[in-house]
Amino acid sequence: MQAETEREAGGNKGVSDKQIRLKISSPNVLNITLVDLPGITKVPVGDQPSDIEARIRTMIMSYIKHETCIILAVTPANSDLATSVALQMATAADPAGLRTIGVITKLDIMDRGTDARNFLLGKVVPLRLGYNGIVNRSQEMVRPRDTFWEYMVEISDKRMKCKFCGEVISGTITRAKYHLAKMPNRDVKPCPNVPEVVFASAETVMEEAEMKKQKLIEGSSSITACNPTGVVDHANIFGIGSGGTSKTTGQPKIKTLVKKEKELTNIKMVTAMIDNNLSFNLLRSASFK
Ligand SMILES: [Zn+2]
Repeated sequence: MQAETEREAGGNKGVSDKQIRLKISSPNVLNITLVDLPGITKVPVGDQPSDIEARIRTMIMSYIKHETCIILAVTPANSDLATSVALQMATAADPAGLRTIGVITKLDIMDRGTDARNFLLGKVVPLRLGYNGIVNRSQEMVRPRDTFWEYMVEISDKRMKCKFCGEVISGTITRAKYHLAKMPNRDVKPCPNVPEVVFASAETVMEEAEMKKQKLIEGSSSITACNPTGVVDHANIFGIGSGGTSKTTGQPKIKTLVKKEKELTNIKMVTAMIDNNLSFNLLRSASFK
């Protein structure tokens, strides 16, 4: 749809009288044509002509004037319903209100203390086919629930109980993942009963998150400035000094370090790399896992 609109009307909010037709065939659908008309634009933007409002009004009227068509007059509830342009135009085309359905959207974000009750009851602009109130899903509702909730029982907002060991964890689901991955994090204890497969997937997810964080640190140019100790022990990290090769034996496994130490190690590693002109790809090598 986006591509077709741009092809016809350009990429800069231009308008066109030409229709984009999408045909859906199925034995189970009504024989109906749904025409999605543009909203009224008051102030021209982008490539829109100065008479855009009049042009869109003419276009809309050419469709809704037909006696056989049903008008869906869509108005957001957080605007002044009494001055709704959609309802005004619908009333012009259908003065008796016989073939107009009123649709009131965004009921969830109306101003505090106001309601659309009288409108929905048809007391303001009476319509034979009535009104429908709509609340669209918010972005938050669209985002899928974290799969690790499967292993938790939600007690209340920000409190959950581990299905394997009964441990109560407060905070976000991320804290539960620390628990299942047996990674110490603040007061989160490692799970004693987590099945191997759940442990492995939690560990993978947490390591990926750690990698992402590491990438962010790599991308930061002010990294040396935020080294909290001001001391970089190169030898400790790379084994540099014993022949100049980067030996990593004796380096503690990152996984076993607590979060703070991990971050410190990350900073030290990157600082050392910058100091020694080492390629950052080293970070991705197996020896640093
Ligand atoms: Zn547990």
